[in-house]
Amino acid sequence: MSRIYDLHAHSTASDGTLSPSGLVAHARDQGVETLALTDHDDTSGLAEAQEAAGRLGVELVPGVEISVTWNDLTVHVLGLRIDPEHPGLRRGLAGLRSFRDWRAEEIARRLSAHGVPGALEGALHYAHGPIISRTHFARFLAAGGWAKDPAQVYRRYLVGGKPGHVPGRWADMAQAVGWINAAGGQAVLAHPARYRLTATRLGQLLDAFHACDGMGMEVVSGRQTPTVTAHLLGCALRRGLRGSVGSDYHGPEGAVAELGRMAGLPPASRPVWQTW
Ligand code: AMP
Ligand code: MN
Ligand code: MN
Ligand code: MN
Repeated sequence: MSRIYDLHAHSTASDGTLSPSGLVAHARDQGVETLALTDHDDTSGLAEAQEAAGRLGVELVPGVEISVTWNDLTVHVLGLRIDPEHPGLRRGLAGLRSFRDWRAEEIARRLSAHGVPGALEGALHYAHGPIISRTHFARFLAAGGWAKDPAQVYRRYLVGGKPGHVPGRWADMAQAVGWINAAGGQAVLAHPARYRLTATRLGQLLDAFHACDGMGMEVVSGRQTPTVTAHLLGCALRRGLRGSVGSDYHGPEGAVAELGRMAGLPPASRPVWQTW
């Protein structure tokens, strides 16, 4: 049996609903042997996760998921095996969290002007760590009956052209990869199929990422059809990008993907963990 890796998951340090130690315990129950904690723009959950991992016999990979703006599109770059204490990485992530704080106020102002009051306080009620995310707004809006579920909240309020949308001004790609590499980590492009790009445009994104010294991409992400996996595998092989596997787990509620239940990496892919 090959080892079970899940290299993309969130805790309450960002927009997950399990604490870092709760997440590690759940990973152990799911049979995950190597878990990366990759909170959005923040590493404050890693110490607790590491402690729990030592106790529970799970291998914990210190990670982060960095928000990046590439040609007006928001994309996510995972840093795996980072040193979370690296000063350059810490400074970079602190800047992104400041943008998040400002953006949250701006989202609330726009929602208020649209007739939805109290959204900042409402979202903060769901945020249990140092970052505030659209996910927290979505939970508040769904609980308040502004839409029937979080997915509809995004469609109605939080995406481009909708009343609560504030365009991202995240890290640039070279910067984000630079922080990760300087912190001794591996830069991996997250969920490439989720950006809904044409094949040409996805190719451009991957070329740009490769040119910035990115080393891998998620060839398997969450629940993904075999056709998509085959396409992503081809994209990775053509550029010499290594392959990674991650659920992007955010907690048990309406789980899009369970921890450690993805298809394995196709044998042709060179895994990110080969050199560990
Ligand atoms: P943010 O980084 O604050 O803009 O929030 C992005 C997060 O919102 C993602 O990491 C997902 O967890 C969540 N998200 C974005 N779009 C959707 C969607 N359509 N349905 C459910 N969750 C979403
Ligand atoms: Mn998220
Ligand atoms: Mn993401
Ligand atoms: Mn994620």
